[in-house]
Amino acid sequence: MLVSAYNVAHQSATRAPETLQLTLEVSRGDTLMGMLTDAGVTMSEAHAAIESLREVFSPRDLRPGFEIRLSLESPGGGKAKAADGQGFNPIADGMRDAFRLVGLSFAPDVDRDVKVERSKDDDGFVASTTEKVLAPVDAGAIGLIDSSLYEAAMKADVPTNILLEAIKTLSYDVDFQRDIQPGDSFEVLYQNMVDEQGRPLKAGGLDYVELITGGRDIKLYRFTPSSGFADFFDDKGRSVRKTLMRTPIDGARISSTYGMRRHPILGYSKMHKGVDFAAPTGTPIYAAGNGTVEVAGRVNGYGNYIRLRHGGPYKTAYAHMSRFARGVHVGSRVHQGDVIGYVGMTGRATGPHLHYEVLVDNHQVNPASVKLPAGETLTGRDLKAFAEAKRAIDRRRSAIAPVLQVAATPDDKSKSADSDE
Ligand SMILES: [Zn+2]
Repeated sequence: MLVSAYNVAHQSATRAPETLQLTLEVSRGDTLMGMLTDAGVTMSEAHAAIESLREVFSPRDLRPGFEIRLSLESPGGGKAKAADGQGFNPIADGMRDAFRLVGLSFAPDVDRDVKVERSKDDDGFVASTTEKVLAPVDAGAIGLIDSSLYEAAMKADVPTNILLEAIKTLSYDVDFQRDIQPGDSFEVLYQNMVDEQGRPLKAGGLDYVELITGGRDIKLYRFTPSSGFADFFDDKGRSVRKTLMRTPIDGARISSTYGMRRHPILGYSKMHKGVDFAAPTGTPIYAAGNGTVEVAGRVNGYGNYIRLRHGGPYKTAYAHMSRFARGVHVGSRVHQGDVIGYVGMTGRATGPHLHYEVLVDNHQVNPASVKLPAGETLTGRDLKAFAEAKRAIDRRRSAIAPVLQVAATPDDKSKSADSDE
């Protein structure tokens, strides 16, 4: 697909060669060869350029959406006259084979440029890559929540990957459907990777997230203990990770809670012994905790069903899966967060959803309210190192706080919401 084409030498003499800059977007099914020849480059030049590109980048790795900048030179003469002015399109104008390839370039990653140019003695092409030097710069956001954390964070320009990490980190302590109220507030600290001009090209990881909700002030710090696995800890050094997750699926909506309900298929009132999460077929389902697969198979109304045995009296069960993840069978070990299967509607189900159960001593309990044992608590050297890491993060927070306070100034709407309290 042609994105733009313009003529560099608008006012050039009729017979002088002119350079055209073309930006082409890779569409599904495009090959670089096809794109170059469509743009008017001869087969042999296109072939030579691609051969040299191969030294630094496999043309097979071109993805739909990549933008390729082409530099072409018209041979001058009658045809070049038609190339004057904006909006000129050599493809539409049927000027195949009229152009000499000067070079091409594209950015396969935000921090990498690939370039193919004519060699110095002009007997072929040379390819090169340039890595951009990116430096980490602290960034953050403070915001009031009007409706959802997601909306508030988006309004505060928090990058999506940072927001998802923050939600995942908080989800051990917060029930997002029930707990979040207008007037709650949040803070995040993360790093942006910026180029030499200071433009943020990608976000690094989340370092700190705070949520003030329902009288609770939850502050979570990233820290890597001597075990080598980075995790989030509260200000007392307790891991946020519980032994079991209450929500073993991302981005799902609770469609039915635990308790008595009228059964949607059977019609009569019946105890619903789990929580239903509505999600599209194929959505990954995670192991809620470390454990061993106790059951993996077809079980009556449950359809494709997996039950995991965790430490102590705890088990979790997952029903209606479309399929199990590869390698998951009775006896296999799973870690918290491993994908064990995918949402479906096998067994008795009116639509695709995950039916999730938590069992204590083989009896189903309410996954939303059961008291779950906490994860690791830092001690000794780890606790000392954590205190230092925490102070460093707090210093970084106060260093960028003046900038953030401006952004967090409540607008009129949230002010009036405050005065209602
Ligand atoms: Zn259910």
